[in-house]
Amino acid sequence: MKITIVAGARPNFIKIAPIIKAIEKKQNEGANVFYRLVHTGQHYDKNLSDTFFDELNIPKPDSNLEVKSGSQAEQTGAIMVAFEKELLQNPCDLVLVVGDVNSTMACAIVAKKQNIKVAHVEAGIRSGDMTMPEEINRIVTDSITDYFFTTSTSASENLIKYGVDETNIHFVGNVMIDTLYQNLGRIFEPLFWNEFQLETGNYIVLTLHRPSNVDEEQSLIQLLQGIDKMADGKKVIFPIHPRTKAILGETNLELKNIHFVEPQGYLNFMYLIKNSFAVITDSGGISEETTVLGIPCFTMRNNTERPETQSIGTNKLVGISIGNLVKLFREFLQKGKKKSGIPELWDGKASERIIDILLQK
Ligand code: UDP
Repeated sequence: MKITIVAGARPNFIKIAPIIKAIEKKQNEGANVFYRLVHTGQHYDKNLSDTFFDELNIPKPDSNLEVKSGSQAEQTGAIMVAFEKELLQNPCDLVLVVGDVNSTMACAIVAKKQNIKVAHVEAGIRSGDMTMPEEINRIVTDSITDYFFTTSTSASENLIKYGVDETNIHFVGNVMIDTLYQNLGRIFEPLFWNEFQLETGNYIVLTLHRPSNVDEEQSLIQLLQGIDKMADGKKVIFPIHPRTKAILGETNLELKNIHFVEPQGYLNFMYLIKNSFAVITDSGGISEETTVLGIPCFTMRNNTERPETQSIGTNKLVGISIGNLVKLFREFLQKGKKKSGIPELWDGKASERIIDILLQK
């Protein structure tokens, strides 16, 4: 079986790393499976791309479509045009896409139109929020996917509600968590740890990059000022996403507790998360990692496509108002950590399950 694996953006790289390892393991056992790795170039900054390939030992892509940034339509269109050529020159039996970025949707459409089977890893999750580009990507991708690999029974149920044939839905667990378990022994402190005098369990990690939080400069500034005040002496480490950085521009915010740093590599970032007091974020992936690590997570969004991070894990959905964050954070300071657990099958073996299932197709 020849599989073309697509990756375009930071969370994709983290998800494909264990899938590639699982394929290579099968190859070493003599299985007839080959892969070709295509990087669409959606994320191209060293900090968001190369560092992850180096740290997670992901092989150099066989092809880089180098689409770079653009509007939603420009980027999606450019990926489709380039991926169509790529697939014509390098035919395969299956295209495997992960997550919910533009590359996921664009490459799924191109593959399907060439009558190539599509496998979607992290299928079926839904926020119900059609203002999120990711939700549109999820729905379109799942509408043409052949093999659905899900992280939760609720994602599988969503697909059944959409009319997907149950025999094509496979609840396998979470590849993001495979990467976490494979690398926990390798994480290390970032260079600024001593400079900022960080102490284990005594600082907050902040990440923000979703349009609902960062696109409106004044509300972003108010949010940051509010978090700075709320932190009340606790240091807040803010690896700033290029998108957020571009919106703030040269604005001088004079914040007392928040320290801006570059987007972190995976090993430094997971060290920061694992040793933090709490995390404030609008990322979906981070709410999964904090769930497994048992770190309190406050999600600055009105909805989540990962309900198990709330019902089983440590995640608290805050909404996007600073007032509600302050209220929920105070409650947490009074009541302490919520009892939490690890969702079913988030055991580090999802990628191996995926490859086992694909080899039976
Ligand atoms: N991440 C990282 N360095 C950072 C911020 C995030 O390594 O500075 C990792 C994080 O651990 C998670 C992934 O990137 O695994 C999430 O990426 P992002 O927030 O871009 O995507 P989302 O989860 O929102 O789709």
